Amino acid sequence: MGVLRVGVLGAGVVGVTTATELQSQFPTANITIIADKFNNETTSEVAAGIFRPNLSFTGPTPEITSQWIRDSYDYYDAIRSSEESARAGVSQISGYLFSKVDESLVKNHLLEKIVPVYRRTTKEELKLCPGNWKYGSFFVTLVTECTKFLPWSLARFEQAGGKIVNKTIGNIKELEQSFDIVVNCTGLGAKYIFSDHQLVPIRGQVIKVRIVHAPWIKTFFYGDSDTYIIPRSDGVILGGCRHYDSYDMNINKYDSAAIRERCFKMVPSLQKARFIRESVGLRPHRSVVRVEPELLDTGFTKFKIVHNYGHGGYGVTSAPGTAKHAVKYVRDLHSSSSVYSKL
Ligand SMILES: Cc1cc2nc3c(=O)[nH]c(=O)nc-3n(C[C@H](O)[C@H](O)[C@H](O)COP(=O)(O)OP(=O)(O)OC[C@H]3O[C@@H](n4cnc5c(N)ncnc54)[C@H](O)[C@@H]3O)c2cc1C
Repeated sequence: MGVLRVGVLGAGVVGVTTATELQSQFPTANITIIADKFNNETTSEVAAGIFRPNLSFTGPTPEITSQWIRDSYDYYDAIRSSEESARAGVSQISGYLFSKVDESLVKNHLLEKIVPVYRRTTKEELKLCPGNWKYGSFFVTLVTECTKFLPWSLARFEQAGGKIVNKTIGNIKELEQSFDIVVNCTGLGAKYIFSDHQLVPIRGQVIKVRIVHAPWIKTFFYGDSDTYIIPRSDGVILGGCRHYDSYDMNINKYDSAAIRERCFKMVPSLQKARFIRESVGLRPHRSVVRVEPELLDTGFTKFKIVHNYGHGGYGVTSAPGTAKHAVKYVRDLHSSSSVYSKL
């Protein structure tokens, strides 16, 4: 048997974490990332990058979902506590989650057991932001700035011998001759390349500002209606919106106005912030994130594919965990183990 050749299709946060996990598990294999968008062209780069899975984030079972989140936290936290943290764009952050609607909205069973602090707010803390908030939580978590994390990961991948190919793949069979196994990390691209009609874009828009007059904004704030203010090393991210089944990649001036109004209401000093830029991204939503193997009948052989896509609004949070799971399937397919008998 020759050297194992694995192709990772996609270079967003899911593709790069899968590729680096493959390198650590298969140090002698030839690993190649193939993608037509990198770094600031990807959806991943638009993400605020806060480590906060929503309760709607779903893997195949509750146990697997929890494991993905735990593995992801451990992965980022190891980077955060290393010398590479600033270069990789991974840091610790704390802040508040407020709601006027329901106490359940400020709880998070996926996060509470993992992060160092997750507690209910005091009455005084509820008054930190104007708006008569009824319920609140304070927690400590991580933020990953993909503006830094993606180029840092790609550089590490290349240093470890990985290859990168810039190419659009129209049909997955194009990769059959070059690779023994392909891991599909195409995000919303899987809708086209694998005809997965369960994938739906959830359009989001964010504004990045620089705080000139209020450098004290060091904590994040979340409110109802997808309102968030997340300080990072490169500016403060103001969001947001969620438009189901919208493919519109243009900046929408009504969304911009609504984001400003909601964020300024929560933190009035933001009105003095300097505008940097606005971005739009399509979250690759699937009711159950797809991490599973497939033996694709290409007419000649069974082409070994491992899927890893559909992370919706929580791809930065969950990518390292789903990458670890996907790489287990790569191992199973490579050693022709139990996966075959199940398929
Ligand atoms: C406004 C906004 C805010 C967000 N905030 C957060 C947050 O705070 N926390 C969080 O966890 N998540 C957040 N997300 C969600 C997160 O951005 C996504 O879940 C994540 O980026 C998905 O990553 P991905 O690698 O699957 O997809 P992408 O980043 O879209 O990457 C897909 C890759 O596949 C490649 N590809 C696709 N099709 C083909 C093809 N046919 N040929 C070649 N290459 C192909 C592309 O070129 C690209 O490299 C946010 C998203 C948005 C839009």
